[in-house]
Amino acid sequence: MKIEDIERRLSVLRVQRSRIDYAIETLELQLQVESNAKKRKFESNEAQNALIGGSYVLQKVKCGKPTCHCAKPGGELHGPYWHLYTKKDGKTTCKYIGKNKPK
Ligand SMILES: [Zn+2]
Repeated sequence: MKIEDIERRLSVLRVQRSRIDYAIETLELQLQVESNAKKRKFESNEAQNALIGGSYVLQKVKCGKPTCHCAKPGGELHGPYWHLYTKKDGKTTCKYIGKNKPK
């Protein structure tokens, strides 16, 4: 292989490499933008939750009495009762509602 041939091949490969690098950078940037958009969408769902005052969840609970059947491993829990989950300042709080979901 002649030196000129090697140099020509090298320059072709270098151009290809820079194109690949550019394509990778573009895709990485796109990925970043897309994942940020996804995150924003998730945050707006959270904001919507806050707007309606949180999300209501039906859950079985332990009453907290150490002598109760619910304290035993695998024991029957109480309820299910409604709980209101709200997010404030990045912290999720749970409020006990009761047997009936508020209208
Ligand atoms: Zn109990």
